[in-house]
Amino acid sequence: MDAPETTHGAMTPDGKRLVTLIPGDGVGPEVVDAARRIVEATGAPVAWDEQQAGGEVFKQGLPSGVPQATIDSIHRTRVVLKGPLATPVGFGEKSANVTLRKLFETYANIRPVREMPGVPTPYSGRGIDLVVVRENVEDLYAGIEYMQTPGVAEALKLISHKGCEKIVRLAFEFARSEGRKTVHCATKSNIMKLTEGTLKRTFEAIAPEYPDIEAHHIIVDNAAHQLVKRPEQFDVIVTTNMNGDILSDLTSALVGGLGFAPSANIGDDIAIFEAVHGSAPKYAGKDVINPTAVILTAAMMLRHIGLFDQASAVEQATVVTWEEGDARTRDVVGDAGAATTSAFANAVIANLGRTSDRYPARVRTPLQMPRLNLPPDLVKPETRRVVGLDVFVESALSPNELGPSIERAVDGSAVALKTISSRGTQVYPSAGAVTDTVDAFSCRLMQIDGGTDLTDDQTVDVLARVGAEHRWVHVEKLQEFDGVSGFTKAQGED
Ligand code: NAD
Repeated sequence: MDAPETTHGAMTPDGKRLVTLIPGDGVGPEVVDAARRIVEATGAPVAWDEQQAGGEVFKQGLPSGVPQATIDSIHRTRVVLKGPLATPVGFGEKSANVTLRKLFETYANIRPVREMPGVPTPYSGRGIDLVVVRENVEDLYAGIEYMQTPGVAEALKLISHKGCEKIVRLAFEFARSEGRKTVHCATKSNIMKLTEGTLKRTFEAIAPEYPDIEAHHIIVDNAAHQLVKRPEQFDVIVTTNMNGDILSDLTSALVGGLGFAPSANIGDDIAIFEAVHGSAPKYAGKDVINPTAVILTAAMMLRHIGLFDQASAVEQATVVTWEEGDARTRDVVGDAGAATTSAFANAVIANLGRTSDRYPARVRTPLQMPRLNLPPDLVKPETRRVVGLDVFVESALSPNELGPSIERAVDGSAVALKTISSRGTQVYPSAGAVTDTVDAFSCRLMQIDGGTDLTDDQTVDVLARVGAEHRWVHVEKLQEFDGVSGFTKAQGED
């Protein structure tokens, strides 16, 4: 069997690749132990640096759920195999999982699903074999939220050109490394033209650099529909964080559920491997949960550190175990006659070295991580201009009362009121829509003297004038870059 090909990451004195192992919470220790025993049985030159994170750490009073020793270990080893982590009710505010992903900028979440012989599903026989590549650090899941008023909540969906370029290139590189032929980019760019549209435009700009791979854009709701109707048409799907979360849970259900869904969180330098499923606390310590997802995750981890033969051995032995059906866990066969977690792992170990004709091993090449070194200000326009402001105010007035009041307030300033909208729909001047209003309104104030930049002094003057009459709660600069609007229009706005 081959030796590790990666150059970075810690090695033991006897030449084994060190991997940080986090057993995790609930069923984590059982399934991680199954994976660990199987990896060891392949003879892979891997040594474990066992560390803690999650439930017990929160309970010891550490609000992040991730101790410094674990962080230090990951910096050393650069590769992690982990079980699920729980956030116990009443401890910690943030999930330890999200902390780990963000701390190590693992910007891509790779979630493959493939039909498992011997695991009956409504899709059996259709050859599902696809991968969702989900952006993992941006989008609504950054969790940047505010209460605009006591009754209106806001979340910021930040999508960067840089983040899109990284995930798109990674998706194409991943497709190449697996010999896959098609990449679909799933977005909601028809509605969110700037945020989701950035991923679509970046995808379309980069796709020609990968002429060996077919590239298609698909609207994400259609992707969900097509995934249920004809999932076998998909190969790789690249998408934004929240879309990817939802689509990848859907895809795991197509091949038998969470027990069969492995995943990798990949960053430039560090990769964290974990099953998609959580800690399933109801089954903790009972030796009944399906360890397949974590075992397939361990195979992804082995491949990542260059141990392709051992990775295939683990994967193929797992497939043979399911195909022959002599050890099947209760999520597939129910309680009667189900194999325990440890018995399943023993069966996989016994099957090491065997291969399945129905699940041929892919011909893979090492993933070429895109080394982009992109500057933070990646997109540099030649011209830019602030052309107005959206000032959000809290008000219980009707639009027809608020409109004239704002017009009077800004009379004599550098701006004039263009429209007022309520949750994205123009309500003043009335465009004829029947809109139920709430107590947050966005007042679009456009610069009167077009052609110059609205200055900060003028902005402060406008806010003071509006603030003298109403409570303003949020402001957005309306900008143009190279003459193109950097803002969208409200529904009904001309
Ligand atoms: P869960 O994935 O633990 O369980 C959902 C359902 O799937 C349950 O019915 C469970 O029994 C079943 N299931 C899960 N894994 C299975 C497996 N390997 N084989 C068979 N059936 C399996 O999700 P949940 O109940 O929403 O979350 C429980 C805890 O896990 C929460 O604290 C949550 O925050 C945490 N969680 C952690 C991660 C992670 O660490 N990456 C992911 C999801 C949830």
